[in-house]
Amino acid sequence: MSCPRIEIDLRKIRHNTRTIVARLKGRGIRVTAVTKAVCGNPAIARAMVDGGAAGLAEARLSNVKRLRAAGFTCPITLIRTPMLSQVDGVVSVCETSYNTELSVIAALAAAALRQNTVHGIILMVEMGDLREGIMPHDLCDTARRVVDMPGVELQGIGANFACLNGIAPTAAQMQALSFLANDVEGLCGPFLQTVSGGNSANLPWAFGGHATGRINDLRLGEAMLLGVDPITGDQIRGLYQDAFSLVVEVIETDANSARCVDLNLARLRLVPDTSETTRLLLAIGHQDTDAAGLSMAPGNTFIGATSDHLVLDTKDASFRVGSEMKFQLNYGALMRAMAAPDIQTNLRHDQAPPRARDVDGPGKHLALV
Ligand SMILES: *Cc1c(COP(=O)(O)O)cnc(C)c1O
Repeated sequence: MSCPRIEIDLRKIRHNTRTIVARLKGRGIRVTAVTKAVCGNPAIARAMVDGGAAGLAEARLSNVKRLRAAGFTCPITLIRTPMLSQVDGVVSVCETSYNTELSVIAALAAAALRQNTVHGIILMVEMGDLREGIMPHDLCDTARRVVDMPGVELQGIGANFACLNGIAPTAAQMQALSFLANDVEGLCGPFLQTVSGGNSANLPWAFGGHATGRINDLRLGEAMLLGVDPITGDQIRGLYQDAFSLVVEVIETDANSARCVDLNLARLRLVPDTSETTRLLLAIGHQDTDAAGLSMAPGNTFIGATSDHLVLDTKDASFRVGSEMKFQLNYGALMRAMAAPDIQTNLRHDQAPPRARDVDGPGKHLALV
């Protein structure tokens, strides 16, 4: 098998999704699966849909097109405000998009009219993360304009937390979002079918005892892929943390000698190694992933990385040139590795067991045609 490669255990992603979907169902919240960290990889998206996700969400139009080309017919929502230059493409492949700019919404409406369709709009509200969103006091006014615009339909509101500032949402902020949903309905009329509370950072709130109010959707990526809370890095109970592993090849070992620079002679020489560790050089670097976001088995120490190399010390004397070494990835490392052209993906447990779709009713979340 080629190196470097990412081994992806789809059974673990299905399990993680199913577990979160079941726990949130009891709280009246559905899961929209976010595939941006895996570049819209169709097999991973399928594992999430098989695990009970109600729909898919993506940040990039190119990834949505990849999903559509793979045959997905389920709803796909664009969660990054569309680029003005891409509105025609957005309308043709996404049922719905998250929006913060009226000029973009107007362009989406015009594109939808040209394509003889209606595009769904979810307004993103700024609730404190300071990345994107409409200020709460402007929300009703914007909502009214959307309602009056032919070609688009106001489907809901949403908020995003902890992306830019890394602070988890509070119960008070979530309640404020619920109240905003009621305000918009009171002033503009249409029932808001989606009130999307946020991302994986919202799970502690969602699993806690707080009233969920109007929040009926979360957009989740990291929790299902990596089984961790994005803010604390803590493992989420009952989920796998090792659905992904990065396998890298050793290209040099220093088994019998260590390197040092003899400053007197101002040249490099080899000296006998007195330590118990072996230095390994591996064929991966900053160009492929976030080297600092890799973790490895105990007994190995990260020394450094350059654009194409990773250097580490190991207490395991069995490594040779050509040996493979396995790493776990955090979100940043995974995201970059999945986008790296030189890293292959290797899928395991591709087929969902026949029972998998029964969790939320047979066929309900069937996405592939
Ligand atoms: C990335 C993103 C998500 C998903 O975040 P995770 O931490 O992977 O769950 C949800 N909403 C928006 C707007 C995003 O950009």
